[in-house]
Amino acid sequence: MDNQENKKQAGASRRDILKLGALSAIAACGGILASCNKTADPKEETGEKVKLLSPDGQLVEVDKKYLRFADQTVRVSAEEARRGIPGRKFVMVIDLAKCKNARKCVAACQKSHLRPESKEWLQVKLLKNNEDAAPYWFPKTCFHCDNPPCVKVCPVDATFKRTDGLVLIDNDRCIGCKFCMAACPYSTRVFNWEEPKFPEDLVKMCAAPETGVPGRIGTVEKCDFCPDMAREGLLPHCVSACPNGVFYFGDQNEDAVTNGEETVRFSDMIRDRSGYRFAEDLGTQPRVWYLPPRDRLFPVERGLDGKPESLKKRFEGLLENTAENADE
Ligand code: SF4
Repeated sequence: MDNQENKKQAGASRRDILKLGALSAIAACGGILASCNKTADPKEETGEKVKLLSPDGQLVEVDKKYLRFADQTVRVSAEEARRGIPGRKFVMVIDLAKCKNARKCVAACQKSHLRPESKEWLQVKLLKNNEDAAPYWFPKTCFHCDNPPCVKVCPVDATFKRTDGLVLIDNDRCIGCKFCMAACPYSTRVFNWEEPKFPEDLVKMCAAPETGVPGRIGTVEKCDFCPDMAREGLLPHCVSACPNGVFYFGDQNEDAVTNGEETVRFSDMIRDRSGYRFAEDLGTQPRVWYLPPRDRLFPVERGLDGKPESLKKRFEGLLENTAENADE
């Protein structure tokens, strides 16, 4: 992966990419949605005209109503999206010694996936392993388990495991039974109790398991490791956004992971720095490894510096009397 390129791209939100897609909607005006089996928009024309280049090179004027976000993020067939990126085996390493709850990862995840602040696919917990140990910040993603109980219980095959290691959700198939939520021992899935707010044009798009856009009421969603970024050779948004280099992402087949600044051999890192997987005795075989919070770079209290009161409240009392809260 090109680290410099990854950093440069870090600011480009998924929405920006979708907007770029809109520019290439020229040839497909009125046709994009048909492929998603949606009916034409019955709304009145707006009267606002936009100049576009037709497929045969003619300059044409169309009403703004016909502009649609092109489904550019669905660059692969449904079959490919379920199969995964050939030859890859994605893996993540989270260095707990470097985390100070900066929460840039959480914000970048929400922004890029067009999710509100209240929805956290990625959570930062405060953990303490025993009474005498000091607490530490613990970012928690979906672990993309190699033996995922969530996939086994899905009655409609809506959540699936790919050859590249990712566990994804096709929310067009999801019936909202929540069996997967009950089966996940790490409580990493969230339910859409209300209609998620997306730009009107995105709502009309067919579901894309590789982007999670658009979300739908009555369906389950979770961290997806940003597979659309991986297809471009880019890092997940949480990795690029972290100012402290906490997250390393890469390909286990290549035995390499990077946090965008430093690229290391995955097997060496796990062996030499006592890498472990959270509650792996459950047999889930997570694809996320942790490096223990030894010789921490930041005192744990720094994690609440400048944070809003609502967030401080979440951890109230925990710094003095921290209980394990990873599965709350
Ligand atoms: Fe499934 Fe939970 Fe494992 Fe993610 S962490 S793959 S949701 S069991």
